[in-house]
Amino acid sequence: MKIAMVGSGYVGLVSGACFADFGHDVVCIDKDQSKIDRLHEGIMPIYEPGLAELVDNNVKAGRLSFTTSLPEGIAGADAIFIAVGTPSRRGDGHADLSFVYAVAKEVGESLLGDAVVVTKSTVPVGTGDEVERIIAETGTKHRVSVVSNPEFLREGAAIGDFKRPDRIVIGAGDDFGRDVMSEVYRPLFLNESPILFTERRTSELIKYAANAFLATKITFINEIADLCEKVGADVQDVSRGIGLDNRIGSKFLHAGPGYGGSCFPKDTLALLKTAEDYDSPTRIVDAVVKTNETRKRAMGRKVIDALGGAEKARGKQVALLGLTFKPNTDDMRDSPAIAVAQTLTDAGVEVLAYDPEGMEVAKPMMPEVVMKDDPYAAIEGSDAIVIVTEWDAFRALDMKRVKELAKAPVMVDLRNIYRPDDMREQGFTYVSVGRNGVAGHLRRSTD
Ligand code: NAD
Repeated sequence: MKIAMVGSGYVGLVSGACFADFGHDVVCIDKDQSKIDRLHEGIMPIYEPGLAELVDNNVKAGRLSFTTSLPEGIAGADAIFIAVGTPSRRGDGHADLSFVYAVAKEVGESLLGDAVVVTKSTVPVGTGDEVERIIAETGTKHRVSVVSNPEFLREGAAIGDFKRPDRIVIGAGDDFGRDVMSEVYRPLFLNESPILFTERRTSELIKYAANAFLATKITFINEIADLCEKVGADVQDVSRGIGLDNRIGSKFLHAGPGYGGSCFPKDTLALLKTAEDYDSPTRIVDAVVKTNETRKRAMGRKVIDALGGAEKARGKQVALLGLTFKPNTDDMRDSPAIAVAQTLTDAGVEVLAYDPEGMEVAKPMMPEVVMKDDPYAAIEGSDAIVIVTEWDAFRALDMKRVKELAKAPVMVDLRNIYRPDDMREQGFTYVSVGRNGVAGHLRRSTD
């Protein structure tokens, strides 16, 4: 099979490299010249574990190549994937589909033969219909089937997720589309990964429903964490206690600073807009979006409280450990660290930070924050240390050294990676999420 992947970002590059590894002949296309130049030199434009080796092996094997030219890249392709960004449109939260539609037009104008055009980008219900219309409007004489194939990979574990997915969803309306997609995913079919064939609109909605559900689960446990702090319960035990119930499941029940990243914030907003357009309100998702937004700033205020309140916080110094929205990626899109840092700098706090992979991307997004080369350099002279992202590098800090370097032994652990008892024993004032209540002493509002 010959596959063209239009858009070589987190999704396009990983998907393209994995398809090549399955034995397909893949061309990754991107309009960003510097990205393609770097890929030609073997330099990855993103940080994703295992990606550099995968790309290198498949380039050497002659199965993977890169170009900025869409007509050249799609020539002779059986399947043309669209994997460009669909960010939130400024002002109204709708998914901005201009990149997808621009690709659809260029594909229609450049087709040299029959092809299946696959939307892998996350797109609202009905986008496939519009892609089909745009391609038809170019007057192409070739047979085109427009298929939806949403991607569920997680950054940081993207290659494993792509190669061993929980399921593959394919929304196709004709046999041409279904047959080509079956061939594209045949290696996974042989691995017995479940493949769900469905209508195109259903497939488009599955992606939004999945992300909105996961965002809801995270937001739910975050609110339970707040309640735990008030009633003196431990949210980690609550998570375990409910997660062991097979009907609930233990994943996405880790309390923290609120979800961020390139998908959940924009996809929940886009789902709300679709619901509004079709006059079919999704009130739960609406509450999730609002609750999560306020939570990120609230985490900044939690740090200010740990510094002794707004007045005392002014002029103090804080070390932020972790900036990316989760570990093992350099993706900073909608990271909670941005809101936490902003709340702190707004309150006159000086912020120093360290992140193993995200600092280059983060720098222009948070100009007031001073980036340091290692966690201990950020901690030196700080009045509080805040763990924002649970990188492995922060799981076993040398606490003796931390105490020596910091001005005050105060830690705000927004990812609950340390044990409160251990930290207190080591002389820290330790604040975490949903575990700060006085266990066994119910404090009611009437007390
Ligand atoms: P990204 O911003 O990392 O990559 C998009 C790429 O498309 C960029 O390199 C850009 O230069 C390129 N591009 C834009 N217009 C182009 C054009 N006309 N021709 C060629 N290239 C073009 O985005 P991403 O994170 O890979 O996300 C892509 C899509 O996949 C989005 O819809 C996203 O919601 C979805 N998705 C992302 C993830 C994730 O974890 N990042 C997971 C599942 C789904």
